[in-house]
Amino acid sequence: MPDTDDRTHAPLIPAPPIPAPSIPMSLPQLGEEEAAAARRAILSGWVTQGPEVAAFEREFAAFVGAPHACAVSSCTTALHLALAALGVGPGSEVVTVSSSFIATANAVRYVGAIPVFADVEADSGNIDPDQVARAIGPRTRAILVVHQIGLPCNLDRILAIAAERGVPVIEDAACAIGSEILRDGEWVRIGRPLGHVACFSFHPRKMLTTGDGGMLTTADPELDRRFRLLRQHGMSVNDLARHGSREVVFESYDEVGYNYRMTDIQAAIGRVQLARLPDFLALRREQAACYADLLAGIPGLDLPREPSWARTNWQSYCVRLSGGQDQRRVMQALLDRGISTRRGVMCAHLEPAWPSGTWRCTGHYGCGCSEERACAALAQSVAWRDQGLMLPIHHRLSADDQRRVAAALREVLAPTMETA
Ligand SMILES: *Cc1c(COP(=O)(O)O)cnc(C)c1O
Repeated sequence: MPDTDDRTHAPLIPAPPIPAPSIPMSLPQLGEEEAAAARRAILSGWVTQGPEVAAFEREFAAFVGAPHACAVSSCTTALHLALAALGVGPGSEVVTVSSSFIATANAVRYVGAIPVFADVEADSGNIDPDQVARAIGPRTRAILVVHQIGLPCNLDRILAIAAERGVPVIEDAACAIGSEILRDGEWVRIGRPLGHVACFSFHPRKMLTTGDGGMLTTADPELDRRFRLLRQHGMSVNDLARHGSREVVFESYDEVGYNYRMTDIQAAIGRVQLARLPDFLALRREQAACYADLLAGIPGLDLPREPSWARTNWQSYCVRLSGGQDQRRVMQALLDRGISTRRGVMCAHLEPAWPSGTWRCTGHYGCGCSEERACAALAQSVAWRDQGLMLPIHHRLSADDQRRVAAALREVLAPTMETA
């Protein structure tokens, strides 16, 4: 049907107001430089686990101050290799959090171990060292901590507990690239690593992205050797060594490994991102400070704070609804105003993939709560999920956008006539 314009006869309908452009939650910061780097890798003729990966590993290790860095396909596969390389297997327990992206708990399941979920601290949302101490038992083979949405957890206390009990510490640093922690009076970057292994993610939701990708850092050369073996099918000779050899080499496969390789295309992008990271971090600090000013004093809203010994990279800006507001209603009202938000960090133990019997909590030697989904021992984790509100933060977010977010929150959280 041709679009015959007879609107002159139609009743006059007022034009809808022009909607304000919507503000997304997060955006990957990729541009021409990354595109040029990908092109360079593609045209080089070596597209997977070659020279770009080796260079990215060297540069990443130097950035975080780690002796060794091993690139893999994601943080999920990094976590799997960390647990496997430390010999965590069936019958073992791993002390970790339910309050994390589900990949943390899933990695424990991949090696056939059972996660023992420790609750998080009410103020930081990070793993509670007191709960870690309670969760360690005779079958504990590792402590898997998470630096929650970029904020370092209390490693000093957890490392002391771990050393006393002789248990290795793995850091899920998926969100914590560029975050820092004060150790013996000196600021050091997460990933040095302070535990045995730290695992990073380069998913587009994180501060540095290669599309997908991950990195393991360690100070232990033997662990690093294991990661390299396991990421490439357990193959005794790696491709770089084989291609560089003047003699015929036959490889062997002494154990079952995985294909967790990073491509050279991803690594080339990662090298550009790493060089730009200090600028990304500086902008996030400014934006976080701006939110702190704009949101101060809004009733029923708690703002994130850094303890004196930690600096987050502000990958996410998560406020907390402390006035008993309905989280879904608040998020919907913001969405209606063109502002995307996300709720607080999920809880693995509340997901259908994790029914009773697949996990334990710190009360598992008596409270019997793993028989029921409502676990009192994980109350703070659930509170963070149900009261947390992640606000937009990314490189395109302007000061005007931040004022719009603040104004919307003020309006949405204003006490109504009935409740006032
Ligand atoms: C994103 C994330 C992961 C998973 O990272 P991928 O690279 O997507 O596999 C694991 N743990 C935490 C805490 C995360 O935020």
